[in-house]
Amino acid sequence: MPERARRLIPGGVNSGQRNVPGLGDLVIARARGSRFWDTTGREYTDYHAAFGPPLLGHADPDVDAAVTETARELDLCGVGVTEGEVRLAETLAELMPSFERVLLTSTGSEATFHALRVARAATGRRLVVKFQGCYHGWHDSVSLNVISAPDRVGRHDPISTGILPEVLESTLVLRFNDVAQVRETFATHGADIAAVIVEPVPHNVGCLLPDQEFLAALREECTSHGSVLVFDEVITGVRHDLGGWQRIAGIRPDLTTMGKAIANGYPIGAIGGRADLMDLFSSRPGAPVFFAGTYNGHPAVVAAALATLDKLRAEPVHEHVFRLGERVRTELSALYAGLGVPAVVAGYGSVFVTYFLAKAPRSYDDLLANDTGMFVGYRRRLLDHGIFELPLNLKRSHLSYAHTDDDVDRLLAATEIAVRAQLAD
Ligand code: PMP
Repeated sequence: MPERARRLIPGGVNSGQRNVPGLGDLVIARARGSRFWDTTGREYTDYHAAFGPPLLGHADPDVDAAVTETARELDLCGVGVTEGEVRLAETLAELMPSFERVLLTSTGSEATFHALRVARAATGRRLVVKFQGCYHGWHDSVSLNVISAPDRVGRHDPISTGILPEVLESTLVLRFNDVAQVRETFATHGADIAAVIVEPVPHNVGCLLPDQEFLAALREECTSHGSVLVFDEVITGVRHDLGGWQRIAGIRPDLTTMGKAIANGYPIGAIGGRADLMDLFSSRPGAPVFFAGTYNGHPAVVAAALATLDKLRAEPVHEHVFRLGERVRTELSALYAGLGVPAVVAGYGSVFVTYFLAKAPRSYDDLLANDTGMFVGYRRRLLDHGIFELPLNLKRSHLSYAHTDDDVDRLLAATEIAVRAQLAD
């Protein structure tokens, strides 16, 4: 199968970073709850969670039932609107403090693309500000400076070739949590800045927690210079709080992008925010900012999202994953302290990540000191214990409603064995 895959599919996978060194032969057969199985029958407890969507666990029965029921009645018609889309818009607007309007996309990348396009349209300005370590999808304006080599930090570091230099130059890359740099940048370029886009918690490099004053400074500078503040809550929205990080921080962005956990694994994205900006989208007749997508608001996906959000509100999902997350972080910290290994077990709620660093990181620069060999090495060893934490540098792990204390017991025991073996190597 892997050879057959590689014959026609470049690299044998359908998304960058699914092709993990040493795991080239992994063919997935089944996924349920906290587990997945490959075609050889090997079982893994899954902490990778497909980069984050299945907050309820894989193939949640309530989500499955909603999708199946909808599929029996309705598929895509591509005209008008459905009852489900209206309910989903109402639900998201109820949950997210800043949503005066909401539109659906099929992916997070489309949501961030449209956020930046409408920001440029509304302001008539060119520049976008992003932060080193944040990922916002595959499109040109943001395809730079995610996980950069030490010598590429502090200048443009595209993650792809084929991007026009003038597009790269239209994105300014700043240091996360650096209030002074934000203020200086606005003092110099404020009149040209269309948007600031930020993962309020940069999870694409594990977990960097934001200083409250940093997010507040972004809000202040955007307000005083008329720039659009975009919170990219594709990971944090829903997973950390039903009202997103904006509710936790008490900061109201102008636009918010969402995706992933909204539909527990079905392909979705959303953009929401200020009515005056959102009403520029061409879903409103005559409005100037083109917005389209054949699959936007697909009934099966919308059914998955409604079932997911209903369950997140009706059951103690956050309570469960936060308790397990706290347990994992506390017990892993004790484990590393006991072993005398310098490690920072970072995370929030259901997310955890162990950096092999001496002190808690505040920005991407601090992560350059992470011991990559340890980070990837013990995760590779965990595979032998049937535990899947993605063995790639700086990737975070996720807990779901389907994970149990027994799963956590096994994770902790296997981690101790894997780390000891890595140290002995
Ligand atoms: N923003 C963030 C914060 C993300 O983590 C991702 C995906 N990892 C995206 C945007 C892009 O979403 P998608 O892969 O659904 O296009």
